[in-house]
Amino acid sequence: MVISEVPCPKCGKTGLYVETPSDNEVWVKCHECDLFIGMSDEDWHRIHNSPNLHEKIAKLYRTEYPGSVSGRSCRACKSEKDDLIFGICKSCLYKFLIVILVIMVIGSYAIWMAVL
Ligand SMILES: [Zn+2]
Ligand SMILES: [Zn+2]
Repeated sequence: MVISEVPCPKCGKTGLYVETPSDNEVWVKCHECDLFIGMSDEDWHRIHNSPNLHEKIAKLYRTEYPGSVSGRSCRACKSEKDDLIFGICKSCLYKFLIVILVIMVIGSYAIWMAVL
């Protein structure tokens, strides 16, 4: 079974496929590299109907091979995101910008009060 919509967490190409060597074992492999993720049939059923299968597979890969993938998670909230800007996910970046904005407003207000 080919899971064409999911990019390989190791090489980034789409060429993942699933092998079932036994009734209760599932292997995720890649046509393009030597990726191998083994899991139980039960685990596979749980993730394979998930709407974000590619994140689930990437996460499994990271759990099984820690250190092989460079930081793909947000430095601030530690959640796994693909849209990182300077290592920070967009929602954290927005929060960060709002905090800066608030500090600037309070700061300018304080200066204004000091001048008066
Ligand atoms: Zn691959
Ligand atoms: Zn974040």
